[in-house]
Amino acid sequence: MPDFKNGKIIVFSGAGISAESGIATFRDSDGLWAKHDPNTICNYRNWESNYELVHSFYNKRRKELESKLPNPAHKLIKRLEDEFGIINITQNIDNLFEKAGCKNVVHLHGELTSLRCIRCECIIEIGYKAYDFSPCPKCGAERLKPNVVFFYENAPKYAELYTIFNNICDDDIVLVIGTSGEVVNICYLLNKGYKILNNLEKCPSIDENIFDSVYYRNASVALPLIYEEIKRLKG
Ligand SMILES: [Zn+2]
Repeated sequence: MPDFKNGKIIVFSGAGISAESGIATFRDSDGLWAKHDPNTICNYRNWESNYELVHSFYNKRRKELESKLPNPAHKLIKRLEDEFGIINITQNIDNLFEKAGCKNVVHLHGELTSLRCIRCECIIEIGYKAYDFSPCPKCGAERLKPNVVFFYENAPKYAELYTIFNNICDDDIVLVIGTSGEVVNICYLLNKGYKILNNLEKCPSIDENIFDSVYYRNASVALPLIYEEIKRLKG
């Protein structure tokens, strides 16, 4: 068994960690995509033709996010950050890690609380407000896009994801929480390190056999146990 004392802790999360905070997911059978066509609200090829619909959808999500609170799972990740330091990569566009106090969260798929100008690439923080269709404050472009990665759109943070996972060492700990593995096939990226999985249940795209430790239960229930496990590994 390697000595994990000096290794890194990498946390990779998906919708499952925020579900208990009441954030509606896209992919569940009763999720947002059951009610909204992803091809009209989340498609880089036609978002400009559905401009008002797209913004009205994300305005609503942003407004909903304002009252949502981090759950015990987010808070325990913050505790791991405080005690050991972590690399925190999430597929989530909510800001519940930030609300829990986490710093430097890598949002692979963008963030709900900002807009992006596709002409000059600047990011405009908007918080929980609805977009009022004002032009880009930097270059004057008339249209701004939600800062959320759409289908067929480049996801520049993936480069960071690959760098982080390519640099995992035997004495690192990798924690995968609340992801079906359908968007980012995380198992392909996992090679070295001590691997911990937490999902509500088995997922066809996640090979549980590659993990050293598996927790099938709610993130808020699993995280206290995982926290203890990591503490033991860290000695
Ligand atoms: Zn601009």
